[in-house]
Amino acid sequence: MKIMKFGGTSVGTPERMKALIPLVNDSEKKIVVLSAMSGTTNSLLEICELLRSGSAHEALQKNSLLREKYHHTVDGLYETEKFRKAGHELVDSLFEHIGSFSAEQFALPHEKTIVGQGELISTALFHMLLQERGARAILLPALNFMRIDSDEEPDYPHIEANLKRELEKYPNENIIVTQGFICLNMQGETDNLKRGGSDFTASIIGSAVNASEIQIWTDIDGIHNNDPRFVENTRVIHELSFDEAAELAYFGAKILHPSTINPAREKNIPVRLKNTLQPMDVGTLITSSHKFEDYKAVAAKDGISVIRIHSARMLMAYGFLRKVFEIFEARKTPIDMIATSEVSVSITIDNPGHINEIISELEKLGTVETEHNQTIISIIGDFRPGRKGSAPEIFEALNTIPLKMISYGGSPLSISLLIDSLDKTAALRLLSKHLFKQQ
Ligand code: ASP
Ligand code: MG
Repeated sequence: MKIMKFGGTSVGTPERMKALIPLVNDSEKKIVVLSAMSGTTNSLLEICELLRSGSAHEALQKNSLLREKYHHTVDGLYETEKFRKAGHELVDSLFEHIGSFSAEQFALPHEKTIVGQGELISTALFHMLLQERGARAILLPALNFMRIDSDEEPDYPHIEANLKRELEKYPNENIIVTQGFICLNMQGETDNLKRGGSDFTASIIGSAVNASEIQIWTDIDGIHNNDPRFVENTRVIHELSFDEAAELAYFGAKILHPSTINPAREKNIPVRLKNTLQPMDVGTLITSSHKFEDYKAVAAKDGISVIRIHSARMLMAYGFLRKVFEIFEARKTPIDMIATSEVSVSITIDNPGHINEIISELEKLGTVETEHNQTIISIIGDFRPGRKGSAPEIFEALNTIPLKMISYGGSPLSISLLIDSLDKTAALRLLSKHLFKQQ
């Protein structure tokens, strides 16, 4: 059994949805995971924001606009009156549900319920489309099996047992359609796997059913060797290892949610990135096999803050770093990069949510300086210890860009550099020119 996940743009218009039919309608058994149609989750979040701030009238207006959009979608999607009527009824009932939340008692569980409606509607519309075209498909509600535990991690025993039970009901159906993103939490409320989480849904399901392959379909032809939004003439990388893909996804390749790799790696299930606009293209295949090349790819991650702690107490002391790390751990703030000297340590984070508390704790240890709007550039290649050369091309390429931190030796397959975000485009272009000879 394989998993096929289609993202927001792949289900973004009636035409795009119809183009998926030949991709899913064959004799192989598959679970089809869908995102919300592109733009919907953002609109639903805006509705929530309006309800939260007491602007019920504006929320209702936005809700009606979105409802209209879906009525148009229904008109473009179905050929028969029967399905069109059912589609319009579905849209009405879903948007009446959203409109029923009042601003007075608006709370987080309501918000999670509203935000999850996008996946419920895209899967229901697509399932009806398959039925109209005579395909045997089942709509399996993700909330029947998908759950996160109290640490907000997938509750695998629950997911495996419940998904198995659900699938056993449909031994002869080849197309099982389900929602990405949404899940239940330990309180039994609707929750979600955070923005972009439908990719993660696909790999959690893949792991739970021991799938033969997890396919992530988008409107891009795979992972590129540099960021095509800033650099021209980038190339698709056809094969990557799990480690390389995880690093690239984490450090900026927007095509894949960073959590997607772990479940696949643990069960050694290949992940294939495919383009719905060019389904015959090979895309990018991610497996456990690793082929070292001098330089394979470059990615950039914005929104980084750097915190520098300077303390004479660090000199020849032990246990100092533990105290520093505990401060970040207590605020559930992951650290990305770190550089140390005898009397100072620099740390980068991508989530500044608790930065003020972190700084005031760190100030008990020494003087603290912070800088925002930083970017981590990550270069994937062959940096195994003991290799000659130490990547001179990288530093030569970037000799006009101020480097603020360098992480070398932490991983055999990557080097990370911290720069000011204003220098990002220039840095990516220089690396493209020098490492990949692409102008
Ligand atoms: N619809 C959700 C989002 O926009 C989940 C996803 O598309 O992956 O974040
Ligand atoms: Mg996505």
